[in-house]
Amino acid sequence: MGAPTPTKAPSPVASQPPPATPAMRQYARFKAQHPDCVLFFRMGDFYEMFHEDAVLAHATLGITLTQRTKGVPMAGVPYHSVEPYLRRMIDAGHRVAVCEQVQDAAEATGVVDRAVTRVLTPGTLVDEALLDEGRTNRVAAIDLLVGDPPAAVLASIELSTGTFELVDLPAGRVVDEVVRLAPSELLYAEPADGLVPAVIEQIRNAMACSLTPRPPWTFRPAEARACMQEHFGVATLGGFGIADDDPALSAGGAVLRYLRETQAPNDDATQRLGHLRPPRRQSMDRFVTLDATTLYNLEIERTMRTGATAGSVLSIFARCRTSMGKRQIRDWLCFPLRSLEAIETRQRAVAAIIEDRSLADTLGDQVAAVQDVARIAGRVSMRRATPRDIVALGVSVARAPDIAGLLDDRPAFADALQRLRAIAEPLAALAESIGRQCVEDPPAHLREGGLFREGVDAELDEAMALQRNAHRWLAEYQQGLVSDTGINSLKVGYNKVFGYYIEVTHAHTDKVPDTFSRKQTLKNAERYITPELKTYEDDVTSAQSRAIERERILFESLCNTVACESRGLAAFADIVAELDVLLCFAQVAGRHGYCRPSLVSEPRMDIRQGRHPVLDESLAEQFVPNDCILGSDEDDEAATLALITGPNMAGKSTYIRQVALITLLAHTGSYVPAESATIGLTDRIFTRVGAADELHAGRSTFMVEMTETANILHHATDRSLVILDEIGRGTSTLDGLSLAWAITETLAARRCRTLFATHYHELTSLADEHDNIRNLHVSVREWGDKIIFLYRILPGRTNRSYGIHVARLAGVPAATVDRAAQLLETLAVHTGDPAPPSSPPQQMSLFTEYIEHPAVEALRALDLTTLSPLEAFDILRGIQERLDDP
Ligand code: ADP
Ligand code: MG
Repeated sequence: MGAPTPTKAPSPVASQPPPATPAMRQYARFKAQHPDCVLFFRMGDFYEMFHEDAVLAHATLGITLTQRTKGVPMAGVPYHSVEPYLRRMIDAGHRVAVCEQVQDAAEATGVVDRAVTRVLTPGTLVDEALLDEGRTNRVAAIDLLVGDPPAAVLASIELSTGTFELVDLPAGRVVDEVVRLAPSELLYAEPADGLVPAVIEQIRNAMACSLTPRPPWTFRPAEARACMQEHFGVATLGGFGIADDDPALSAGGAVLRYLRETQAPNDDATQRLGHLRPPRRQSMDRFVTLDATTLYNLEIERTMRTGATAGSVLSIFARCRTSMGKRQIRDWLCFPLRSLEAIETRQRAVAAIIEDRSLADTLGDQVAAVQDVARIAGRVSMRRATPRDIVALGVSVARAPDIAGLLDDRPAFADALQRLRAIAEPLAALAESIGRQCVEDPPAHLREGGLFREGVDAELDEAMALQRNAHRWLAEYQQGLVSDTGINSLKVGYNKVFGYYIEVTHAHTDKVPDTFSRKQTLKNAERYITPELKTYEDDVTSAQSRAIERERILFESLCNTVACESRGLAAFADIVAELDVLLCFAQVAGRHGYCRPSLVSEPRMDIRQGRHPVLDESLAEQFVPNDCILGSDEDDEAATLALITGPNMAGKSTYIRQVALITLLAHTGSYVPAESATIGLTDRIFTRVGAADELHAGRSTFMVEMTETANILHHATDRSLVILDEIGRGTSTLDGLSLAWAITETLAARRCRTLFATHYHELTSLADEHDNIRNLHVSVREWGDKIIFLYRILPGRTNRSYGIHVARLAGVPAATVDRAAQLLETLAVHTGDPAPPSSPPQQMSLFTEYIEHPAVEALRALDLTTLSPLEAFDILRGIQERLDDP
């Protein structure tokens, strides 16, 4: 996306010298009406830009800068390949007003009539070439309400598919929810002082989104409500479940008015935007709260390090068959559900697909055959559909009965089936009508002709027959002339410039009858025309244009029929998108051995052999699974907070993230990467990664870290999951430790499920005093001067004083090693390194106590670092057992 700056008007045209020609006067008028847009001004086969727009186009699009008249810079792009240029302009953060010739140039007396037919902005694109098929493209409006407590309302529309949603938010969550919704463009009421409001600044810093200031009156409740009522043709919005004094209407009306202005500046906007669905009032309480930091830390859509999609959680689920599914799955991952019933409905469907291989295959094939019905329906309403769109739509909705048939008698799909049945009839009629009227392989553009079948329309048939018979008539006519004149080489031909002609070589000029009139002289032949041929030519040419015109009328009427079904089409698109995502869930679950999590109402967690979904895929069997038990009702495991210690690179961050991801996935209805999982319903997932974490270096400060932590402490409930990774590190050791200590105590008292990976080993003593806190550590083994990571999470605490142990193993005299350990203890407080444990840890005794044992000697000959962690672990465990039991 483009530069996330509020659009600033380029300097006004008024600063230019007065335009010299009528066309340029017209240009100046349109430019004045759209001062914040680059104006693409249609002149014949080109869209031209002038003045500063031309200079901008030259810089942005790399097209040549010329001069129209002296001192007037001009740059142009050919009309038939304008799409890529439009896209680049929008991607660069600009707005474009497209000004078309709305009159046939031949009919114009003087300058041809022109009009701005649409305004393109990042959030309002609908053309296929301008959009990513797998990404929703929303335009949203935000209205900050003054009140106690302060709140905000957010309205968003996906113009290409017509979805329209309204939500309200506590002011504190505005930035997070905007980031999660990820609109391409955000409208806000421009304050009187013209400054950008603080929240909008925060949004600008948090994401790439085009920010568009709008006149404040468009947000006024009365105007906004009137706009909504007019558009949907209702006297009250009650029928949509929205009270007429609902505060969210301000944002809803503002975004709707913006679309009406930009998309149909001269047209009947209600008809053009006829595919917009009535607004749906959403409550954010339906979804597990995920803030922007959590989406970022868990790498849901992109990785932290590179920002690429590859390696993200979304990439694991990139197996959808339709564009609609691809867009849907992003929303399902970012908006996990809170309701047990809703989650289980999805789970049941996934289970049904997993259990029935043939259902998976046939349903998969049916779904795959459905084109992007949601966006096609949008283009039809907006009068931007092509013949191929219509045919694809017909073929797609024709699948509805087959899909319904597959879901029949399957309780897991009862809801989808019921919705499908409700729209089956009109969709079948639509499919039939399109299939009956249109050819299977339509032309790309209507102007090429040939979309409609024979027998659909008598007038079109007649015009087509004339064209088709042209060849035969001409052949016969030529035959007749040859025998009449006796010129065997006589030919009847056609070319674009001169039309039809009779060609006779100069050698036979004397045999040419008087009825031939000379038309064109070639080097060795003469071309003629006859009254008969002329009449024929006129007939054929007019037949052609008649056919095209006839097709245009038929197409428009077909589009109207389709537009009338926009509700049914939207519902069909939703069902297909859902089925597609469910199929994808089933496929991922099957391929990677996921299990069906059981969601329970008690706030607990019991994951057995859990894996990190991304590393699980990239490392495959090299990945070491781990359990996670928190807040279980069995007495000995009642702790809700676990402190995880272990050296760098041991797998702490991976472990705590995997627990968060399994929890998140469980709430989407997906299966999860584990052997079994019981997960208490969760209201929020918080993650905080300390400022000193290398991944975070340069991006975060201790201040940010503490602000984020404060947010957790304010909002975490006993239903929340909290993931803390090395927080407190960005300040002096004692400050950091004290803070970490206090935070741990607070979260333990709150009884929210918490995983805290920490380098503060001092914290582990908290577990001695609090039943609710337990220690975990990541196991490692030392070999020679190397550490082998086993990635296994084990109960109990650990230390990181490997240096001392390495020294001991290396044969440093015992007295020196002891002195070093002593020094470390006193230094630890100042350096921030953890103090050594009071007793040698379990895992170290392996080598220190049995150092002379022959098994250890033998092991030394092996380079354990070349083994996989599991192999190394198994070998070491085997040895440990032999040593323990001599
Ligand atoms: P820490 O947070 O303890 O420094 P990380 O969680 O960042 O360690 O893990 C470091 C690397 O170790 C990861 O990038 C991954 O390659 C590997 N790793 C982590 N956990 C596992 C595991 N369970 N199985 C296999 N490899 C793992
Ligand atoms: Mg880490």
